[in-house]
Amino acid sequence: MQIGFIGLGNMGGPMAANLAAAGHDVAGFDPAGVTADGVTVVASAEDAAKSAEVVITMLPNGDILRSVADQIIPVMAKGAVFLDCSTVDVASARDVAAQAKDAGLSALDAPVSGGIGGAAGGTLTFMVGGDEAGFTTASPLFDIMGQKAVHCGPSGNGQAAKICNNMILGATMIVTCEAFALADKLGLDRQAMFDVVSTSSGYSWSMNAYCPAPGIGPKSPADNDYTPGFAAELMLKDLTLAQQAAETVDADTPLGTAARALYAQFVENEDGMGRDFSAMLPRLAARNRS
Ligand code: NAD
Repeated sequence: MQIGFIGLGNMGGPMAANLAAAGHDVAGFDPAGVTADGVTVVASAEDAAKSAEVVITMLPNGDILRSVADQIIPVMAKGAVFLDCSTVDVASARDVAAQAKDAGLSALDAPVSGGIGGAAGGTLTFMVGGDEAGFTTASPLFDIMGQKAVHCGPSGNGQAAKICNNMILGATMIVTCEAFALADKLGLDRQAMFDVVSTSSGYSWSMNAYCPAPGIGPKSPADNDYTPGFAAELMLKDLTLAQQAAETVDADTPLGTAARALYAQFVENEDGMGRDFSAMLPRLAARNRS
């Protein structure tokens, strides 16, 4: 397939390389001048998009997605698929999809879970919103870049699934860290706490697969001095998107609101920037109740 790939950063670079390694013809563009194995670098987003059957974008935020969409939608071939894999606000995803459909294109919002390791290993999970025809065209590409793609409904629903998932993750990580910090003060050994909770009703992905306590459970960023992994500032981004979405539909999300406020404090006023989001454990363990 002829593929345009715009945004060859930490995630986009390895995703584009995996598509090229699978035999697809990938034309890539990134203004930072970065490249990826097997990808033909072109001079502009328009050059990457104009003869592509599928154009994939992997960009930092909704404003940049909107500006790239303005550039490429006019030059894309009728019937081509605009596949955005960035994490952006639901409103930007829906607006860009409407703009693409008006121009005779298929549009999919397909944010991912799995991080840089999943991008490199081709094991991402895609949460996809958009039309069935686009999903069918893009499915072989999801199979190369990921291990699972779930079609969540119309445009914007992929982003909705992503922010709901990450709101659960953020709040669950915080309370898992709170529980370890409380256990410390109660004289409960961290290993004993893990052995109980990981096989009891408090279990979760945060505890069982990504344990925030060093030396406990499977290997995780906690075992590497909280080097990300999934950086606290990216969790803050996703929790902020969840709060924006909750405001637009008047949804009550008290724990999502509290989780966003705590990660904002950690990233903006403390030492959370650049640390894994599970570094909430040493932060809480070092504090008192007040
Ligand atoms: P990144 O900053 O490494 O990459 C983004 C790339 O977009 C950069 O290389 C940048 O130069 C490029 N870019 C910026 N403006 C552009 C423009 N106008 N035209 C073309 N390219 C432009 O970020 P990343 O970690 O690769 O994340 C990309 C997206 O994936 C984000 O939306 C992020 O929230 C999401 N995401 C990241 C992770 C992760 O662990 N890094 C996990 C899941 C989802």
